[in-house]
Amino acid sequence: VTDVLDHVLGQSRAVGELRRHLAHPSHAYLFVGPPGSGLREALVGFAAGLQCENAGCGNCESCRLVLSGADTDVVFVERRGLSWSVDELREAERVGRRRPLGRGYLVVVLENIEFAAAGQSPAMTVLLKSLEDPPARTIYLLTAEEVPSVLSTIESRCVRVNFGPLSDEAVARYLQQDGVDEERSLQVASAASGNLRRAQILVRDHDMEQRLAFWRSVPERLDGTNARAVALTGEILSLVETALEPLVALQEQELAQLKENATAMGQRSLPRRDEIEAGFKREQRRFRIDDLRFGLATLTNVYQERLHSGLETTPPTSRSLERAQGAVTAIEEIAKASRSFSQNVNETLQLTDLFVSLSQS
Ligand SMILES: [Zn+2]
Repeated sequence: VTDVLDHVLGQSRAVGELRRHLAHPSHAYLFVGPPGSGLREALVGFAAGLQCENAGCGNCESCRLVLSGADTDVVFVERRGLSWSVDELREAERVGRRRPLGRGYLVVVLENIEFAAAGQSPAMTVLLKSLEDPPARTIYLLTAEEVPSVLSTIESRCVRVNFGPLSDEAVARYLQQDGVDEERSLQVASAASGNLRRAQILVRDHDMEQRLAFWRSVPERLDGTNARAVALTGEILSLVETALEPLVALQEQELAQLKENATAMGQRSLPRRDEIEAGFKREQRRFRIDDLRFGLATLTNVYQERLHSGLETTPPTSRSLERAQGAVTAIEEIAKASRSFSQNVNETLQLTDLFVSLSQS
């Protein structure tokens, strides 16, 4: 028997718990797991299971409506900024008060609820109020990558379902079913560290080796001039631009699939299209930052090798000690830059500054 929760990869324990809850669901759930561990798939599958009269058969009208994003009783509340605003959470509360239009439940979804934690007590109060006493046919589905202690009251009002990072075998098997050969699937799975989404991007990324080689060559290319620091920054940012292409291609493929599903369900246009596209943009910004951090980690390795070779020189010379000291300073500078990368930092300035200071160490 296949059903809507069968599509959730490698999370049999979480899926088992969710299946048990379908018959008598609680009023709020908190799905917790790292990126790419299948939270979204589990959430949509569970929502379909809630609406279906056969516990999520995957074939009936109710299931297909939820899976294609066309069920008007499954409402994704959209987060527009970096953190949840009071207005957005009020909107969630307002939505949660209305009656479902169909015979099933009204399902209100808030993804990445950890972004309500940024010291915004008014937002938190609104969210707590929604979860305290929702109408009988309303169910809240929340997700979070992690649950900071400020969210413990929110957590205490939900059934928590944990998702772990996927095993390399599960990711490799998935890629193989997608037509990737065994050797490459194992290689990509191990580089993706349990994140299926990252694996799907990496398997399409044929320039990763070249990008890492470039990062490794940065120390020897620096010549102490600002002009060189600026030039290297430009080259790296254009490599990151290229690195985005596989992600953009994957997103386009997903959008086409969603449109096809919507057409098959008789929809004239794709429901929630703006939200989907905003989500894609967020994912791209995040990917850029992750890729830059990955590059900085590679650069750190180069200086760590320098540090070790400086310390291993026997007997130590003033030249080798100086080299080791320079490497320590460089590693600290890189760590500082890596921490400061966030969605609203000026990447060009940040990288140029880093390269200028590395020229001096
Ligand atoms: Zn069904």
